[in-house]
Amino acid sequence: MARAYLKAMDQNLIPDVVGSTDHVSATGSGERALLPALLRGWRRRCPNCGGGPMMAGYLKIRQSCASCGEELHHHRAEDLPAWATILIVGHLLVSGLLTVEVNFAPPLWVHWAIWPALTLGLTMWLLPRVKGMTVALQWAKRLHGFGDRRPAIE
Ligand SMILES: [Zn+2]
Repeated sequence: MARAYLKAMDQNLIPDVVGSTDHVSATGSGERALLPALLRGWRRRCPNCGGGPMMAGYLKIRQSCASCGEELHHHRAEDLPAWATILIVGHLLVSGLLTVEVNFAPPLWVHWAIWPALTLGLTMWLLPRVKGMTVALQWAKRLHGFGDRRPAIE
């Protein structure tokens, strides 16, 4: 369901939520919709508008959104995306490897041909998406300055 929804969004069959999901009050507080932000993060798009790309390269987060101007430099993703990616890939690959070994018992060279390449490919594919979701989570929960709309005290 979620995969079909994401694919349809990527093909522009489903319009993204129009405008910002940031319902900010004058004090800088207020709710931000978490699920749309996470889906936008998965697509490596701005968590606020979904229009502009979140990343300037493979993993580098842009200073701000080119579409809506939302500042993205507040993020502190740190090691969470790498940790979460290892957690996900490890569970998938180890369970896959054990399942193949128990059911088919292929020669060792088959394991060497499959699992390292699959590990590398899945990790490279997943890491920027998990990082996008991490930044989107921080944005939605107003962490690390994402929610600070108060004027600076001079
Ligand atoms: Zn934006």
